[in-house]
Amino acid sequence: MKFELPNLSYSYDALEPYIDARTMEIHHTKHHMAYTTNLNNALAELKDYPATMEEILSTISKYSMAVRNNGGGYFNHNLFWELLTAKSSKKPVGKLAEAIERDFGSFEAFREKFNTAAATRFGSGWAWLVSQNGKLVIGSTPNQDNPLMDISELKGNPVLALDVWEHAYYLKYQNRRPEYIEAFWNIINWEKANELYIKTL
Ligand code: MN
Repeated sequence: MKFELPNLSYSYDALEPYIDARTMEIHHTKHHMAYTTNLNNALAELKDYPATMEEILSTISKYSMAVRNNGGGYFNHNLFWELLTAKSSKKPVGKLAEAIERDFGSFEAFREKFNTAAATRFGSGWAWLVSQNGKLVIGSTPNQDNPLMDISELKGNPVLALDVWEHAYYLKYQNRRPEYIEAFWNIINWEKANELYIKTL
């Protein structure tokens, strides 16, 4: 069994001007593709492994660094693409909107906290909004780690994810990560985030 690079549900230029087409194309066809290929190569050396990435991630401490880095990279990008849309409501919806107000006080306060997590992740990594059985928590992980991994300090089910590796923004924003983070708020698929949240209740 092999993991496959998913097609995007939108074109590479759909998220302009917030994320440029060239970045999207390289990010998907080169970076995400490389994680996918390297994950399959690393798994091919094993006798046996679970059918889903979720199961592999939850016991990632038993695997090689190649499976951890590329499995995380494969899974995180699958999620990231689904959490982006050109037709963003620009504000949280449904049960997630209510939970954000409840757990952070306001959408603005939540945004500030998420921005800080994304901006202060040193080097490469991801910022996350996770659900811990319904309770929302913001944090970040290094490299391609994610909150489903047993080795992760931040634990929970991902609701929102932001790639803060330089490859995600450097062509357009160079070293200006905060501008990229600001742009992200215009293209979040809040319907998808709400769907992910509801599954954790
Ligand atoms: Mn990436």
